[in-house]
Amino acid sequence: MSSGKPKKLLAFCASLLLLFSCISEEESQRSFIFDQIDRIRITASDTVFLKGDETAKVKLFATYFDKNGQRLDLSLDIAPEVWVDGKFRKDGLLDTSKEGLFRLTAKLGNLESNPLNLSVVDIDTTTFLTRLEVDFSDSTRSNFAIAGKSRISFEVNALDYRGKRVPRPANIYLNGKEIQDPDRVLIEETGLIQVIAKWGDYESEALEIFSRPPFEKEEVTELPVIFHVVHNGEAIGNPKNRSAEDIYEELRKTNLRMRNQMPSPYVQSVNAQDAEIEFYPALIHENGERLAEPGIHRIQTEIRDFDYINEVTRAFMMEHIWDPNQYVNVFIMEIASGFSFAYFPTLRDPQFPDRDPGPLTYPYASVVSTRGFGTYVLAHELGHFLSLNHVFSEALVRPCADADSDLIGDTEHYVNIPENVQGWFRRKCDGTKFFSTNYMDYHAGPKNSFTLGQVQRMNFVLENAFYLPTRRNNARLSRFEKGPLDLTIQPVR
Ligand SMILES: [Zn+2]
Repeated sequence: MSSGKPKKLLAFCASLLLLFSCISEEESQRSFIFDQIDRIRITASDTVFLKGDETAKVKLFATYFDKNGQRLDLSLDIAPEVWVDGKFRKDGLLDTSKEGLFRLTAKLGNLESNPLNLSVVDIDTTTFLTRLEVDFSDSTRSNFAIAGKSRISFEVNALDYRGKRVPRPANIYLNGKEIQDPDRVLIEETGLIQVIAKWGDYESEALEIFSRPPFEKEEVTELPVIFHVVHNGEAIGNPKNRSAEDIYEELRKTNLRMRNQMPSPYVQSVNAQDAEIEFYPALIHENGERLAEPGIHRIQTEIRDFDYINEVTRAFMMEHIWDPNQYVNVFIMEIASGFSFAYFPTLRDPQFPDRDPGPLTYPYASVVSTRGFGTYVLAHELGHFLSLNHVFSEALVRPCADADSDLIGDTEHYVNIPENVQGWFRRKCDGTKFFSTNYMDYHAGPKNSFTLGQVQRMNFVLENAFYLPTRRNNARLSRFEKGPLDLTIQPVR
């Protein structure tokens, strides 16, 4: 290597150098420490330098590990030797008079550290970038859109020669068309949309968005609902025996959530969509009489040990469920664990769509616990009832590589472990964070969105499942029958 000027100083911190000589003198100490060290790892405060820079200094950090991979907390400081491109550099200097790549290692006795690549570059720092990228500035970060509805915000990240962000007035193009304002850009086209940024000679990779036509349906589907209010004799108005007024308010809000009309001060998914599904209080009792309180069936019981999916709860629901071809069944009851839950629907066999499903062997219903009442929970459970899964996956069941747990692309997927839940944000498998808005998520968040994909799924189920009060199921000739309770059919909370 040339020893010409200018030069860059490479130095381990002064105290390390000082103590290095101390250890050298004490042979016994030295060998004791060396015996423990199995591996050296070095890092640097900087790895890219400008040509001709005489002032820059770089700090090197060495970490030592024993043969078990444990980090050694050495009481005596030691300074390894600095080797550049295979040559010992006693002066700790690196030539910056011309461009080049340098391979730095640290040696201690016979041990050699990992290599560290340093480079000296000759660039114009005002125009040089290592990377230009275009990204979402929406915190919900969705690669999906609804044509004519979704508004998505973008930002440009320009990285300088050291990989640090620098402001650059790049232009953003959406399918080749320049956009003037990167905030809340209306996505008008369907299909694959490519967003790129350009600045000078630099062009980013494309950010891809899949845009779909909006959901269309001839008319809103209205489903009669019966709320089975399960109590132990408490007066009407008690949390265990809700008043009709409270229940109608719960229903009104649930319908607003289904229709994407519930006011929310927070950002929604760019794919939030009206499901065009509503529930209304049934007027007629299963026995044919007019209901005194529409949509409400009060059940007094001595049973007090209802809990999430225990046999007592399931058998009770099975006993009291009304013909699901006539009613959407919702139980409002005290569940000891506090969990609300629901069962998934029974889908028709696509090959034999009208084959009789036989007697119902599980209590196909939603349950809202006293704790879940008055929150978004009924919308969540009706989501399950209409076959929506959670947007997240459970870590032990599905690792990250297995990706999307609900098989719906426009809901953001994450693995439900504490590290991935940060306030109202979740962390995806690729490490990016997103603001969680979906009704089918757990944990804190505004809970204000069903997406287009979820709405399509729910509406598919209305057309293709048994045991729902749809016109097709109402017209069935065979009478509804309850079979023996099958405890292997599991609900979801
Ligand atoms: Zn759930």
